[in-house]
Amino acid sequence: MSGFSNIATFKHGVHPEEFKSFTDKLAIERMPFVEDYILPLGQHIGAPSVPLVKKGQSVKRGQMIANAGGFVSVALHSPVDGKVQAIELAETLTGKMVQSIKIKTDPYSSQLLSSSNPGDYRNMELDEFIKSVQSSGLVGLGGAAFPAHVKFKIPEDKSCKIMILNGCECEPFLTSDHRVMAEYPEDLINGAKILNHFVKAEKIYIGIESNKPDAIAILNKKLENESDWIEVVPLEVKYPQGAEKMLVTAILNKEVPSGKLPLDVEVLVSNVSSIAALSQWFETGKPLIERVVTITGNAIKRPANMMVPIGTSMREVVNYCGGLNTENYRMLLGGPMMGMVQRTLDIPIVKGTSGLLLLTEDNVSTMDEYSCIRCGRCVEACPMFLNPSVLGMQAKKGLWEDMKDNYVMDCFECGSCSFVCPSHIPLVQSFRVAKGILREQKAKKALNNKGNE
Ligand code: SF4
Ligand code: SF4
Repeated sequence: MSGFSNIATFKHGVHPEEFKSFTDKLAIERMPFVEDYILPLGQHIGAPSVPLVKKGQSVKRGQMIANAGGFVSVALHSPVDGKVQAIELAETLTGKMVQSIKIKTDPYSSQLLSSSNPGDYRNMELDEFIKSVQSSGLVGLGGAAFPAHVKFKIPEDKSCKIMILNGCECEPFLTSDHRVMAEYPEDLINGAKILNHFVKAEKIYIGIESNKPDAIAILNKKLENESDWIEVVPLEVKYPQGAEKMLVTAILNKEVPSGKLPLDVEVLVSNVSSIAALSQWFETGKPLIERVVTITGNAIKRPANMMVPIGTSMREVVNYCGGLNTENYRMLLGGPMMGMVQRTLDIPIVKGTSGLLLLTEDNVSTMDEYSCIRCGRCVEACPMFLNPSVLGMQAKKGLWEDMKDNYVMDCFECGSCSFVCPSHIPLVQSFRVAKGILREQKAKKALNNKGNE
């Protein structure tokens, strides 16, 4: 029982076991500095950052070491005082080798920041604010790592009436947003004020699943003396409650049409940790050089919520948490529903890393796939009202165009259909492949059309 009455939600979805108790009561700890940092230049969606430093150059904590590589791109900063060891290829979470800045830490590096406060946002024009956010390196911290300033720049032909701050964190195991809301509530509220100075929404809702009663109570207490411009909305614990379209439906009873974004119905959705980081930039001048990461699962000796400098090796973080209690483990970046399987700990924590899930092998199910028995469970689960059963059969036959006609591009890969399928059909995996092929075909077509012009 949640203890909240009239909690909102969306239709369909699933109820996976939460597993939050590993870390949901654990206060955020600070990860000590390590000897080496690897900072990939392309750790956000968009163009990679462009280095501003050279090998051998000394850098300070918070110093900008790479500039944004275009509008859809952000700056990158050093998480420590140190020296640039190299700018070269390094492995990242996708398994790809990516150009990265490697920094050797000065053993006397302190927590002091070299960056300074960007100035009073109240005296800024919109473009100045957008540039400032871009230079802070801020991206969506919910996992997508989409440059925050791009989202905050409302196109001229659109407007934002409602802002929703997303504190659902509906993925099992993860608790980083939860701890940020419980421990940095002032930053979240102040960040909302800062952003709304420019966005000018009529109302702001903070959507939080009701399994975080402490965060809900803390925020409600902090908002006691505020007028009703901002309100906490407890939501049903259901996956994928934190998906933007589901959140809009749950809180506003509005549907975001197929192929459209929340802004098309005058709503801006932003992750709570991103908004807290926005406040820290404008109040203290701290760019995005660290983030809260949940280290959890039954294969880690000491689960924790850690404030980790960006670029820290995952192995260092795991060692700091007491190491692994087995050699036979599986690792996921993010939660079990949408997380990415990893094969090595020797890659850096990046801006989009919200959690590191370490499970013993016997805890990970590997089951044989059977034929579809047309039970309809996937249809009941899909929050986008797609027919995963039909899409799955079309994927097996490579009928990509038919899948497009059945709205596969609306699938946001939440994994609910795969989760409920009794035949263990890897539905979401095949939809991911189909979407990739369709995107490629579209890009090729556009290129050909351009060539024929
Ligand atoms: S079809 Fe896509 S959106 Fe629907 S449940 Fe499956 S993964 Fe989620
Ligand atoms: S849940 Fe699995 S078995 Fe049931 S209809 Fe969907 S694809 Fe078929």
